[in-house]
Amino acid sequence: MAAPQASSPFEKILIVGAGPAGLLLALLLSQQNIPSVVLESWPCLDTRLRAVQYGVPATRVFRRAKVLEDIRRISIPKFPTICWRSVADLEKIIEIDLSLTESEVDRMTVLPLGEIIQILYRHCLDHANGLIEVKFNHKVTDVGQNESTAWVDVELEDKSTERITAPYVVGCDGASSAVRRALFGRHWPGETFPYRFVVQQLFYDGFEKHGWDGGNYMIDPDHWGLIARRGNGGLWRVTYGDGLTGLTDEEYLQRRPAHLKAMLPGHPDPDQYTIESTNLYRIHNRCADKFRVGRVILAGDAAHICNPMGGYGAMSAILDVEGLVDCFIGYYHNKAGPEILDIYAKVRRDIFLRYVDTRSRKNLDRVAHTDPKTALEKDGFFRLLATLQKDEKSMKDFLMGDGVDVIALV
Ligand SMILES: Cc1cc2nc3c(=O)[nH]c(=O)nc-3n(C[C@H](O)[C@H](O)[C@H](O)COP(=O)(O)OP(=O)(O)OC[C@H]3O[C@@H](n4cnc5c(N)ncnc54)[C@H](O)[C@@H]3O)c2cc1C
Repeated sequence: MAAPQASSPFEKILIVGAGPAGLLLALLLSQQNIPSVVLESWPCLDTRLRAVQYGVPATRVFRRAKVLEDIRRISIPKFPTICWRSVADLEKIIEIDLSLTESEVDRMTVLPLGEIIQILYRHCLDHANGLIEVKFNHKVTDVGQNESTAWVDVELEDKSTERITAPYVVGCDGASSAVRRALFGRHWPGETFPYRFVVQQLFYDGFEKHGWDGGNYMIDPDHWGLIARRGNGGLWRVTYGDGLTGLTDEEYLQRRPAHLKAMLPGHPDPDQYTIESTNLYRIHNRCADKFRVGRVILAGDAAHICNPMGGYGAMSAILDVEGLVDCFIGYYHNKAGPEILDIYAKVRRDIFLRYVDTRSRKNLDRVAHTDPKTALEKDGFFRLLATLQKDEKSMKDFLMGDGVDVIALV
């Protein structure tokens, strides 16, 4: 690892978690010559089915980190529309034409998270001048600090333990964060929703036959979710919430054919589609009381989490990281003191509570609790879209704007 700058107030950052937040943080720090060590509990990157779409603000951070070109190279070539449909008749209620932004460099990014983090990891290894060290099989079990340093206790593959010290520890270790638990125990204000969220990728030629494309939000109290094209060759991602609680994963999957029959065009039986992969999740909206306690900082899902309707989770993690990096850069290069880290913690927490938490709850409400027959008149967001549809320039400005929900919506 390269030697730190002689006059800088700290020599490296210790990052817990090699997810999108942790790897992006390491990469952006390295671009300002700030060394970091990333500790990951798993023996490999986490490539389960999770995020796929990231709004314009996140795309801009990918460009800043110099990974956007690689992302675009393997992304789906066109993602033409996002629409909302009623499950009762599968008809569209309203649609957004994303072709308006297709020539924009910073348009929405569409690529499974598993592939994004592989690109980030490759850049950490190949484009960081040896400033980043990623250590797999390093499970953080506890975190501590005193006035002059911080440390993490780590369990290794052979169950032996090790203590690693650093001036600052950033917990990017996701929803079940050991770093957050070391700071606040089980206290993580917010709620867990009474749904099991079932995510699958499948091949089904009925989508093409019935003219479906892009992202399709499905509105229904029993079969709400999102259906979106994922790639060439008929691969689609279908997600839905199952409102029964307390079942085993196997019992939830026994209920899957009925959900898919209701939601997919042509109402297929299981022999008409091929399921490629499946993951089940619980969904929550929660936020830690503080994102900084002395030398220990939280970012991404470790700090806050929201339900996936709207695609805000990874995007918020990415924007946390960008804000935190700018604070570390100012501090490292002696343009600010450590108190600048409090500004990161306050600003990002306020943004989560004020916008991300509220909007992601509304997005969930829209698909799970709206009457599709009256949604167009009653839902303020749909009314806004209907107005914007009358003027291409306004719609395009809206889609490319920083505060946009729409692009972060799928
Ligand atoms: C079904 C689904 C769909 C989603 N869709 C979208 C979407 O379209 N757009 C969007 O923006 N967001 C979406 N999200 C949310 C998004 O996936 C998360 O917000 C994002 O992954 C958070 O990134 P992170 O780096 O903070 O945490 P994570 O991705 O959870 O990464 C944390 C890393 O830390 C590691 N780790 C955990 N504990 C320890 C430990 N003790 N020691 C060391 N390492 C540890 C983990 O193994 C993991 O590698 C979706 C989520 C789900 C479940």
